Amino acid sequence: MLDSLFEFIEASPSPFHAAAAAVDRLTAVGFAEAGRSESWSELDVARGFVVRDGGTVVAVRAGAAVDPERLRFSVIGAHTDSPNLRLRPQPDSSALGYRQLGVEVYGGVLLNSWLDRDLGLSGRVEVRHTDGSEAGGDPATGSRTVLWRCDRALLRVPQLAIHLDREANDGLKLDRQQHMTPVWGLGEPSATGFREFLADELAVEPHAVLAWDVMAHDLTPPARIGRDSEMYAAARIDNLASCHAAVEALACLDSPADNTAAVIVLFDHEEIGSDSATGAGSPLLADALERIAQSLDAGREQYLRAVARSLCVSADGAHAVHPNYPERHEPQHLPLLNGGPVIKTNVNVRYATDARTHARFVAACDAADVPHQVYSHRGNLPCGSTIGPITASRLGMSVVDVGSPMLSMHSARELGGSDDPAMLTAALEAFLAES
Ligand code: ZN
Repeated sequence: MLDSLFEFIEASPSPFHAAAAAVDRLTAVGFAEAGRSESWSELDVARGFVVRDGGTVVAVRAGAAVDPERLRFSVIGAHTDSPNLRLRPQPDSSALGYRQLGVEVYGGVLLNSWLDRDLGLSGRVEVRHTDGSEAGGDPATGSRTVLWRCDRALLRVPQLAIHLDREANDGLKLDRQQHMTPVWGLGEPSATGFREFLADELAVEPHAVLAWDVMAHDLTPPARIGRDSEMYAAARIDNLASCHAAVEALACLDSPADNTAAVIVLFDHEEIGSDSATGAGSPLLADALERIAQSLDAGREQYLRAVARSLCVSADGAHAVHPNYPERHEPQHLPLLNGGPVIKTNVNVRYATDARTHARFVAACDAADVPHQVYSHRGNLPCGSTIGPITASRLGMSVVDVGSPMLSMHSARELGGSDDPAMLTAALEAFLAES
């Protein structure tokens, strides 16, 4: 399972690549691929289908027999995006003999973790049609979307030498505008900037490169860590580990129970608050579920009743106890790496878990024969959140927030337990299979 997660993380330097990797995995086991703007009415929901829009994916497979009167959804939600550095639309600058690319900070980045790393670039590029006939293009914009990645060490954000900042170890101050601009070359400004570089990479003319959503990624491959390889380190564990577990749970499921539509949704834009056309704050999931219900011959009233008897497992990274900072944790809630999936609770609904949904996920862990742990945030620290409460309030659906324990959340390179990915996957599969 860990090798499969490593492959998924390496295939997914950007949310767009993560969404494509999820589609590839599901179509390889027989799911059909459909578009959000196409009709879904002719699709075979029992065979399964998957829909991708940018960095977001929805996939569904229904049990062999579905009575619209008794329909329910078993939903797993996760997110494809991770905090990182993203290229500005006019990124080129040069000063003091260096050429640099301007970036914006995306999400809650641990800025220091991006210093002194060899960085590649990836994302999606809008390329102008040259002959007006290319497949997959958008006639409205006259362009097509190309997924692009470059795994060469292109960028680096160099740290200031200790001799020039003697206080660096007493609290490093990093200004997002001033200190995080990567260098990507030496020399004077020239006519060939990032656009020309990208054009070369894509084998098109520079004027054909219309726009991009491009971001930096650390080039260090995932690795097993520790005396007995009990841990693993990788970029984007939050939240590709949950995306991978969700995809594997759906791909490996024999068949959902009768009357159950097993759904996974991998949202983009969780790290910046989910308010976007493809984020958890959008109507995307509610619309998808209603359309799935229609494909299963359920009317509007039957759909709304199905939502009322459904459950969503919101899967996202959980904080394992940190051995060097025990005072940052609630003393009675100290999740351990390799301790199994963590159920996250918060009475102010930063996590959407309640007693009933908590119990449902415990039952899934028991059915999968994996242990579970419980997290509650320290009272004198603000608690993070997930797509869980957003999904619950958008849909009026019961939600449980869970995730694998991890350290270094939002670092460019995070740390997890080697056994946890298989345990989370098994618990999610048991949840999708339950009747
Ligand atoms: Zn997350």
